[in-house]
Amino acid sequence: MRQTGCSEEELFSFLSAKRREDLGYKHVLSSMCTPPHPVALRAHSMFIETNLGDPGLFQGTASLEKLLIESLGTLLHNPDAVGYATSGGTESNIQALRIAKKLKRAGSPNVIAPASVHFSFEKACDILGLEMRTAPLDKDFRVDVEQVESLIDRDTVALIGVAGTTEYGMVDPIRDLAEIGEEREIFVHVDAAFGGLVLPFLENPPDFDLSLPGVSSIAVDPHKMGMSTMPVGSLLLRDDPGLLESLSVDTPYLTVKREYTLTGTRPGAPVAAALAVLDYLGMDGMRAVVTGCMKNTHRLIEGMETFGYPRAVTPDVNVATFVCGDGAALPAGWHLSRTRQGHTRIVCMPHVHRDVVEEFLRDVGESIC
Ligand code: PLP
Repeated sequence: MRQTGCSEEELFSFLSAKRREDLGYKHVLSSMCTPPHPVALRAHSMFIETNLGDPGLFQGTASLEKLLIESLGTLLHNPDAVGYATSGGTESNIQALRIAKKLKRAGSPNVIAPASVHFSFEKACDILGLEMRTAPLDKDFRVDVEQVESLIDRDTVALIGVAGTTEYGMVDPIRDLAEIGEEREIFVHVDAAFGGLVLPFLENPPDFDLSLPGVSSIAVDPHKMGMSTMPVGSLLLRDDPGLLESLSVDTPYLTVKREYTLTGTRPGAPVAAALAVLDYLGMDGMRAVVTGCMKNTHRLIEGMETFGYPRAVTPDVNVATFVCGDGAALPAGWHLSRTRQGHTRIVCMPHVHRDVVEEFLRDVGESIC
């Protein structure tokens, strides 16, 4: 730290220079984040100094968090769901497994996850001392339910399904997983961090949410397809307050006596932003955004295939993957990513407008010639 501070002008010219080193989103095709919706920015700045870690001091903001959970619970077919706004999918997944572990006494607890699971579960299992057993996928990159069943034993505390996988945009057979969980009394957690704000707006979505009685918890992130500011995810639990209570600890010096969140100080601003987007757009507006993203995904797939880059799979949500091979001449200046299996991956987020898709396809065409 400097001995004496600098001028505001010097400070902000330094910060502006640093900010210019960041990439703009326009050519970023690899991210599950997107620039916040304008109403999210406005709401965020209104609530910038609020701390949900001490909700008695910020009762208005705390009531917005309740409304957000209610809104997401209703969208996911359980208006009485309990939960809270997390810092994102990682925290929601950690907390869900924490509950699962507390609910069942097991000598060496294990959880069963699809091979496609997000790496946040590796962190969760490491922190919680859980063995993670990974079940292989079928040819469509969905978890093979028979393999899941074969991995279950009496120490299995949770089954995990993903609704909108990070790499391939697939939805696991959640109904089957939920039935197994119900039958064998095992906690079922659905990671819908990405798909949770896509699937409800599709025409015939697969079953994936709290409408399935066997689903115990679900993670949904407004800071992905919810176009909120960061960081805001959510953990929703079937309407049993005991589930959330199982996480709580005493908080002697705060305005509330107990707290069940993982982090202490929590920003209220992105929570207000998340609710603002959902309220402002409503079901119709969200459907329009999601429909646009899905159309762009299909246009991209069709375009890439005409250049000889076949899809790896037809996705359930707006993540497109291609077999491009090591020698593929993909255009420079675009940020793409690769899956663990070597497929080229593009996420058609709201900032990937149709003209961006067309520009990318033109560049692909030119780089082949
Ligand atoms: N789960 C899924 C399916 C994801 O795609 C991601 C991130 O992309 C996460 C969890 C982790 O979310 P976060 O980065 O918000 O912690």
